Amino acid sequence: MAAVCLAALWGWAADAPAGEGPDRFEFRETHMGSEFKLVVYCNDEALASRAARAAFDRVAGLDATLSDYKVDSELMRLSDRAGGPPVAVSDDLFEVLRRSRELSERTGGAFDVTINPVVKLWRRARRDGTLPPRDRLDEALSRVGWEKLVLDPGARTVRLTLEGMRLDVGGIAKGYASDAALAEVRRLGITRALVAGAGDVVAGDPPPGRDGWTVGIAPLDPARRPGRFLSLSNAAVSTSGDAERYVEIDGVRYSHIVDPRSGLGLTGRSSVTVVAPDGTTSDGLATALSVLGPDRGLALAEEAEGVEALIVSAAGDGDGDRTTVRATGGFGAMLGEGPGASEPGTVPTLGGPEP
Ligand code: AMP
Ligand code: MG
Repeated sequence: MAAVCLAALWGWAADAPAGEGPDRFEFRETHMGSEFKLVVYCNDEALASRAARAAFDRVAGLDATLSDYKVDSELMRLSDRAGGPPVAVSDDLFEVLRRSRELSERTGGAFDVTINPVVKLWRRARRDGTLPPRDRLDEALSRVGWEKLVLDPGARTVRLTLEGMRLDVGGIAKGYASDAALAEVRRLGITRALVAGAGDVVAGDPPPGRDGWTVGIAPLDPARRPGRFLSLSNAAVSTSGDAERYVEIDGVRYSHIVDPRSGLGLTGRSSVTVVAPDGTTSDGLATALSVLGPDRGLALAEEAEGVEALIVSAAGDGDGDRTTVRATGGFGAMLGEGPGASEPGTVPTLGGPEP
């Protein structure tokens, strides 16, 4: 049996204005194949709209730079030149690749943005419902390797040293875009703001009268409501998992996240939530920890500055008794109350369909 699931992962964010004070404005647009949501508190509706326009335009610009679907994106044009001389790239592309490579080094290659040739085979598998043949996976894997991604910060150039290499920054781009969107909003003088690019949420100062933004942690089962809530300010949280994109073949469920050692989509169901100082870090780490698994993943998170992580794993397909929950030592302290009955809760989509 083969099934492709494009269900959304649900989360919950609620925030209540405390009586008099600035107004709450909420904006949504679809970019990078996902819904981006912006919530701001300010006194000036025109300013809020300007901030939203600037934020979404910035995300749209990053999509044009970083997409691995749009054939003319800067990332695609760079991939087209694999095997050739160094290529001068934009600040954004350089920064995303620099952060990605750093994460590859820290995770021993569990996170690897050169994984695209393999990811492409799994995208086809999700469409066709058949496993990629082993020889095709091996051929694709022969073109993967973060050490072959060579960055020169002085010249701001990138060289892909092997012909046929291709990049895919899908594991980190939405977090980077959410960071960039919040920076636009702050640049216009609004500090109480939250950006949610699907499962990547970046928070600025909290809503008036509150200690933080209430952000629900998407449960393993996308049909369920969150049971855990974070209180978040001036920090980011990302959730990675297979709830939104996977393929089931012969009773085995393969995630869209690939283990670069085997070339196989992850099969152990898990939902990994990472809190970090910024969205680029939380997004990249959530994907990386999915590959590393709870033991190595949580050890890495414990070491990282300002990072906490929660990993929910299930042996079977359900969200029932066989679910195990593990977290870093400081995660519990980040949990807050759920949204109260009187609060104007909103339900953002965490995750979403691929383009
Ligand atoms: P996320 O939803 O942030 O966990 O990102 C998942 C996406 O990251 C996938 O759809 C791929 O585009 C990409 N990806 C898959 N496996 C890896 C990996 N091992 N390292 C880096 N990116 C990956
Ligand atoms: Mg990620």
